Amino acid sequence: MRTTVGIIGGGPAGLLLARLLHRAGIDCAVLESRTREYVEQRQRAGMLEQGTVDALREAGAAGRLDAEGLVHHGIELRFAGERHRIDFPALTGGRTVTIYAQTEIVKDLIELQLADGPPLFFEAEALAVEKPESERPVVRFRHEGRERTLTCDWVVGCDGSHGIARDAFPTETSRTYAHDYPYSWLGILADVPPSCDELIYARGERGFALHSMRSASVSRLYLQVPNGTDPGDWPDERVWDELAARFAIDADWTLDRGPITAKSVTPMRSYVHEPMRHGRLLLAGDAAHIVPPTGAKGLNLAVSDVRVLARALTELHRTGSARLVDSYSESCLARVWQATRFSYDMTRMLHAQPNGDAFDQRMQLARLRRITASRHAAAELAANYSGLPLAL
Ligand SMILES: Cc1cc2nc3c(=O)[nH]c(=O)nc-3n(C[C@H](O)[C@H](O)[C@H](O)COP(=O)(O)OP(=O)(O)OC[C@H]3O[C@@H](n4cnc5c(N)ncnc54)[C@H](O)[C@@H]3O)c2cc1C
Repeated sequence: MRTTVGIIGGGPAGLLLARLLHRAGIDCAVLESRTREYVEQRQRAGMLEQGTVDALREAGAAGRLDAEGLVHHGIELRFAGERHRIDFPALTGGRTVTIYAQTEIVKDLIELQLADGPPLFFEAEALAVEKPESERPVVRFRHEGRERTLTCDWVVGCDGSHGIARDAFPTETSRTYAHDYPYSWLGILADVPPSCDELIYARGERGFALHSMRSASVSRLYLQVPNGTDPGDWPDERVWDELAARFAIDADWTLDRGPITAKSVTPMRSYVHEPMRHGRLLLAGDAAHIVPPTGAKGLNLAVSDVRVLARALTELHRTGSARLVDSYSESCLARVWQATRFSYDMTRMLHAQPNGDAFDQRMQLARLRRITASRHAAAELAANYSGLPLAL
């Protein structure tokens, strides 16, 4: 098989890149190791920055997002028995965020690609990227019980944090930076309308809790739990009781309960791989970087990478200029490190530190009080949360 851009991974990064390249008239193919059903059901992100919504519109993939997405104008911070709203439009000159589940974005992009897009192979597992330094890199993959090859002009690794594309980078020129946090998130999906209009980030002595949502009838909630927690130790009633205790604020507010339809534990990790390009192999999304979900940045970063990359490959295709491809790694990493910093700060500010001393707790409260007392500090949070510009 032969294509111009071989894309490994059919998550949001790979599917959106394929769509943008297809619209620019660039030939490509996507290899996805899992089944369509699995990819469409994988529960993950749901908070979209304005730039992510714009990118999906540009790709012609925002019909359902525009009809069903919930536009949010802020978030609530709860701590020390108080509630404080961060008003995004007032603090950022009008920016908002949109709630629309990653699973729905993936469904929308798959439907478009199967209708009129470039080839998308499910259960096609990439095994290795070969000759990335050459003019014709090759992806070796397994499909329908046979080993096959895809010869490309460019290969893009959109294969997530456990992918294989990174392995083709030489160890001498690769650098990785990682930080593991001493806690995880127990996340649930529940068939109950959200008990709030906007996301609530709650910090307390019992640990952090986040109230999010996927739609007007489906709630998504998270609890900070110790690393290694078994979801089996958390029957539904225990989850709801703990959530209610961590969000408790005053008699006017109650947490509505409903049937829990999914429950899972996610460890918290920061990871960055530098550089994001080697020869004719490029990385995008979680294949190059992961952040803890506290700042809601992972999906948005993946989409930002893809926007920059689609522009770069389109310019190369139309004019022959490799200027943007050559600056791809550097320009993405500038934004990646800012999102990594923001996600780290939000995580450290809101989670109870296991064995944390009284000094740590005072530092967290001082940071929160600064944000709620100073318009400048609140504006900084709002600007980062609602999304920094594509070019920094
Ligand atoms: C609990 C949770 C909550 C989150 N909340 C948010 C949020 O609110 N906002 C936000 O922006 N982000 C959030 N994220 C992060 C976000 O989900 C990810 O950053 C996003 O999925 C990255 O997209 P991607 O396409 O780069 O990678 P992925 O979604 O991981 O896709 C990679 C794809 O590659 C495929 N693949 C892997 N290896 C191979 C191979 N060898 N061959 C072929 N295919 C392969 C995989 O099956 C997968 O489909 C959250 C994540 C979690 C876990």
